[in-house]
Amino acid sequence: MNANRPLIAVLTGAGISTDSGIPDYRGPNGLWQRDPSAQELVTIGPYRADPEVRRRAWQLRARTGALAAEPNPGHLALVELERSGLPVRVLTQNVDGLHQRAGLPARKVLELHGTAHQVQCLRCRVRSAMAAALERVAAGEPDPACPDCGGVLKPCTVMFGETLDPAVLGQAEAIAKACDLFVAVGSTLQVHPVAALPGIALEHGARLIVMNAEPTPYDPAADELIREPISTALPELVRRLIAGE
Ligand code: ZN
Repeated sequence: MNANRPLIAVLTGAGISTDSGIPDYRGPNGLWQRDPSAQELVTIGPYRADPEVRRRAWQLRARTGALAAEPNPGHLALVELERSGLPVRVLTQNVDGLHQRAGLPARKVLELHGTAHQVQCLRCRVRSAMAAALERVAAGEPDPACPDCGGVLKPCTVMFGETLDPAVLGQAEAIAKACDLFVAVGSTLQVHPVAALPGIALEHGARLIVMNAEPTPYDPAADELIREPISTALPELVRRLIAGE
């Protein structure tokens, strides 16, 4: 890496999107803690096997309206960072697409857990828009099937019981190895294999900044810990990075 233009890797988790109204399902007050039966809605075995689980999952997706969420100052700060000319790559655990919607080029964003904006047929693997599937739910189909083959439609998100796309994970590991600064934003850094990425960055000599309201396993190893709300703290951090402070 050119010392004057250090590669910055930014890992984002649920915490960056809560100010956009997207709940942290995995967090201490998340849906999956309050209602353990909700977890089977995002677990591949029950989802694949049980039409009733899929019906409840579609109802939940229709209710949450996550596709309509707007980016917040945290997302916009990362766009500003990218537009400053500093080499930056965003690795996100979020499936909400808000980094791209805020204006980050898609090639700068790795969606580690997939995207909620598309669905995929479990039989023929064809992808289509989530919005179109939700329109069918609104029109009265409890469990819309693949228009091509009648197979089960599933969001293009990584469910419990599924593994991350090895190509995407491999790219993330390469970025962690190559970066000079690794910034973890709004992630508890407890869900593997993504949780290993800051460790890979540290092993390869990167500095680590952890920005999260709750403690993370990497706090003792971090060069800087930021507990303030992301919507104010991330714009401030970006200002410092652009200024070279
Ligand atoms: Zn199909």
